[in-house]
Amino acid sequence: MTENCLNDEKIAAQMRDLEENLKEVRERIAQAAVKSGRRPEDITLLAATKTVSPQVINRAIELGIDHIGENRVQELMEKYDALNLSNCSCQFIGHLQTNKVKYLIGKVSLIQSVDSLKLASEISSQSLKKGAHTDLLIEVNIGGEESKSGVSPEKLPELFDQIAALPAVSIRGLMCIPPVCDSQAEIMRYFWKMQEYFVDITTKKSDNKENDMILSMGMSADYYEAILCGATMVRVGSKLFGERAYR
Ligand SMILES: *Cc1c(COP(=O)(O)O)cnc(C)c1O
Repeated sequence: MTENCLNDEKIAAQMRDLEENLKEVRERIAQAAVKSGRRPEDITLLAATKTVSPQVINRAIELGIDHIGENRVQELMEKYDALNLSNCSCQFIGHLQTNKVKYLIGKVSLIQSVDSLKLASEISSQSLKKGAHTDLLIEVNIGGEESKSGVSPEKLPELFDQIAALPAVSIRGLMCIPPVCDSQAEIMRYFWKMQEYFVDITTKKSDNKENDMILSMGMSADYYEAILCGATMVRVGSKLFGERAYR
């Protein structure tokens, strides 16, 4: 079979399964929300759409998805014009190189993966240049893994203060991707740690509307546990769109 043919089959399967998948994910989100003393609508579901075609993403938006996140600048640029974003927030959730920032400003409503002053400064100056204002999350390397992006928890307070002093950007919360864990208990220890840091920074920002602050954690395998630990946003890909061949 040709690659195109395989791709068409993949899209057909995604289109067929999406509504049911979304229903299941929303139900589990609602259960976890209630279990953690919140309302289902207090949790934002972001669809992680890397490798997913615009046709399928637009179907997800039709079905009520109002937050999507892309990982690669190049891929986002290729898909952008084909997306129906009038009722949907488009965000950036992947590793971001400073020299690519300029492509995102004015296109994405939130950059979730800011982990250095250098990157934040570039977002700030590109935003100033375009007369824009950009919201961001600080990504925390909660597992202290060398291979991963994110600021270390020790350096988080300093980075927070430095970014808070920049013009044209606002810190809207924290994001993390914890290490691969063997048990629920282990992953929840990371999520609880993040929740502590989140409380610390929301207290710091108490002049602002702190209820609007975002704690973005939890993916297909662990979004339920993340919500139990206080996540306000979960980023779900494969549970909505099926397994990816890569990334
Ligand atoms: C791919 C990705 C997700 C979603 O991963 P799944 O396991 O497919 O749900 C969430 N967050 C980030 C940053 C990602 O890159």
